[in-house]
Amino acid sequence: MATRARGSRILRPLLYTTGAGLVGGAALYSIYRPRDIPGLEAAQVPPPTYGEGGVFRPPSFPNAKSREEQIADLKRSSGVLSGASDKIKGAIGWGSGGAGAADAAEEKGAEEPYDLLVIGGGATGTGIALDAATRGLKVALVERDDFSSGTSSKSTKLVHGGVRYLEKAVWNLDYNQYKLVVEALRERRYFLDTAPHLSQWLPIMIPIQKWWQAPYFWAGTKFYDFLAGSENIESSYFLTKSKALDAFPMLKKDNLFGALVYYDGAHNDSRMNVSLAMTAALYGATVVSHMEVTGLEKDASGRLNGARVKDCITELNGNKSEEFTIRAKGIINATGPFTDSIRKLDEPSIEEIVAPSSGVHVILPGYFSPANMGLIDPSTSDGRVIFFLPWQGNTIAGTTDSATTVTRDPVAGEDEIDWILKEIRRYLQPDIAVRRGDVLAAWSGIRPLVRDPKAGKTEGLVRNHLVTTSASGLLTCAGGKWTTYREMAEETVDEAIKEFGLTAKPLTNAPRVSGTEVLDEAPLDGTCQTHRVRLIGAHGYSKTLFINLVQHYGIETEIAKYLCTAYGDRAWTVASLSSPTEQRFPVRGKRISELYPYIDGEVRYCVRHEYAQTAADVIARRMRLAFLNAQAALEALPVVIDLMAEELKWDSKRKETEWKTSVAYLGSMGLPKSKLALTRKDVESGRVGKYADEEYHLYARHDKPDELLESDSKIPPGHNPVIGHDSKANK
Ligand SMILES: Cc1cc2nc3c(=O)[nH]c(=O)nc-3n(C[C@H](O)[C@H](O)[C@H](O)COP(=O)(O)OP(=O)(O)OC[C@H]3O[C@@H](n4cnc5c(N)ncnc54)[C@H](O)[C@@H]3O)c2cc1C
Repeated sequence: MATRARGSRILRPLLYTTGAGLVGGAALYSIYRPRDIPGLEAAQVPPPTYGEGGVFRPPSFPNAKSREEQIADLKRSSGVLSGASDKIKGAIGWGSGGAGAADAAEEKGAEEPYDLLVIGGGATGTGIALDAATRGLKVALVERDDFSSGTSSKSTKLVHGGVRYLEKAVWNLDYNQYKLVVEALRERRYFLDTAPHLSQWLPIMIPIQKWWQAPYFWAGTKFYDFLAGSENIESSYFLTKSKALDAFPMLKKDNLFGALVYYDGAHNDSRMNVSLAMTAALYGATVVSHMEVTGLEKDASGRLNGARVKDCITELNGNKSEEFTIRAKGIINATGPFTDSIRKLDEPSIEEIVAPSSGVHVILPGYFSPANMGLIDPSTSDGRVIFFLPWQGNTIAGTTDSATTVTRDPVAGEDEIDWILKEIRRYLQPDIAVRRGDVLAAWSGIRPLVRDPKAGKTEGLVRNHLVTTSASGLLTCAGGKWTTYREMAEETVDEAIKEFGLTAKPLTNAPRVSGTEVLDEAPLDGTCQTHRVRLIGAHGYSKTLFINLVQHYGIETEIAKYLCTAYGDRAWTVASLSSPTEQRFPVRGKRISELYPYIDGEVRYCVRHEYAQTAADVIARRMRLAFLNAQAALEALPVVIDLMAEELKWDSKRKETEWKTSVAYLGSMGLPKSKLALTRKDVESGRVGKYADEEYHLYARHDKPDELLESDSKIPPGHNPVIGHDSKANK
């Protein structure tokens, strides 16, 4: 007995210690285990090296069809009909050409109608086009402006589950909200895996003012980590006041108790959008931007069977654009805030389902935030949430949320800009002045909140996306968020296959998007594989690719880093299209703007390989200059227009049109009103920075120091020192 008692006295502590050790070890392992960070592993396709005889072999990539070829394909679809499933032929009366005609057309696959025509080239539309193309469907997408010209280029750039949605889910015991967060967290990981060059992890700080808030936010962020499960990468952590200030020195010290840091994704939204369009094009989709849908066509039984379109580029060239018809078995409306305008083309008296809400962002210089740490203010003065994030070297702050009307290029309201600045000031140290003049760009995006037309009138707006089909077969996908574009596309294509009786097929001849024999792990067997289909540029990308670019082509390091994150492995092509500088170093790449790492080769690449058709396509969606600094974008316009004119053979009239439309566009990106009338000559002679305008009073950056250099005294008051004493603008 005594021996047993002694044994258990020894064993019990041993068991407790071992148990505690195991639990502690498991906890430590889960916190400090090595993470599989997208882009950190070696590239799927290694960078090029020297081949036989020491010859350098740059990578060579497949090209998508040209815009003209794509338009020809669109036109061919309205040739003689064939190939439609019997269900479709019967249902929509396409058999009218007779069996003979149909059989003849059968031989010309190109002249068959599309399985699907997608209207709208934002995140939703391009996601659908890629999904459909990789399931072997014949798909076309038309976008009336540029890919991502709508809401999709104007997001907060977060790839996130949404910590604030989680908070609401918990407090309101809202299962749908909770499910939304979990789904978005899963999608976040796919996003980062399929486009590791365009997206990355970003630590985001939640400042804590009161000690009792710490356990609340700690539990919230840990729950967020937990929900992400194995899809998570870095886990959240607590920072004491001193560590919080070390990580974010701009933060106001008073009343600061500490901070919690959690991780989310951030991305380059419009480049992601363009990459989706280009990847879909490589997989065989017909994607055409600047092609507007002006009407929908129905057969005798009232089912939709096509759309009328016009080429907006023909009009920009001063010619009348002839409308033509694209035939498709199914039409998908993915027009975001414009959802109702397309629904009305189908049924003019239909009740509207979109409640548009404006979200404004401002861009401030990068010195307002640390280079790799964002901040969220979960409790602004009126309860809205504000993000304050580093983005492309600058700081992005936003967003507001207020009811609006739907317009094409909405302008950020002065009151909304002021509200954001006021909220930021509450968080930053009092000696850091946040001035209106520090706003380098400001834009407004329209959130298409949607109401389910099939739900009762009393039911509110759906918080996630909506997929709904009208009686005549218009399939609408709207709402949701950037992070879940892939899932929305999957659901829409599933629905389209059912609704239009389509047959998904294995892709036997998948393109070599990687430029080599290396393929994705995705078995393209007709099922949805977009969670594994890597986007154009992803295969050869790694976080060290820029070094190869610097070593082989003599590109500046800052520029090489930027090119690799914007174009992935296609940075090789961009670099090769960049002009030699005729200097010892850098060897290639002339900057478009002295302030940013954008170079001439990008303009050529975007025209040749990304369907850029206007100067705004380049300065806003391909390179992000217009979003980062509206005045720098204005100053870069002459070079961009000249390079595009060379590539696209523009005459002087078209160049003048480009000037006017691009400057007007910059007006929606925060370019001060006084600069909207500037001519190209004005800009070239340095009048963008001339003092005789409202801006003079906004800045203090030209204050005179107490010890003057001789060169200082040459500059009389009111003259612009930036452009030199002898400049015409200073006369
Ligand atoms: C301020 C703001 C911040 C946001 N931040 C985030 C975020 O951080 N993370 C996140 O996940 N989500 C975010 N979102 C949500 C996300 O941006 C949107 O859900 C998404 O971009 C919507 O994409 P879309 O393709 O449906 O719409 P859009 O991008 O607007 O695309 C619709 C397209 O249809 C085209 N079109 C319209 N009419 C026609 C026609 N007749 N013919 C041809 N084309 C036509 C338009 O030109 C447009 O390009 C944010 C939204 C807003 C407003």
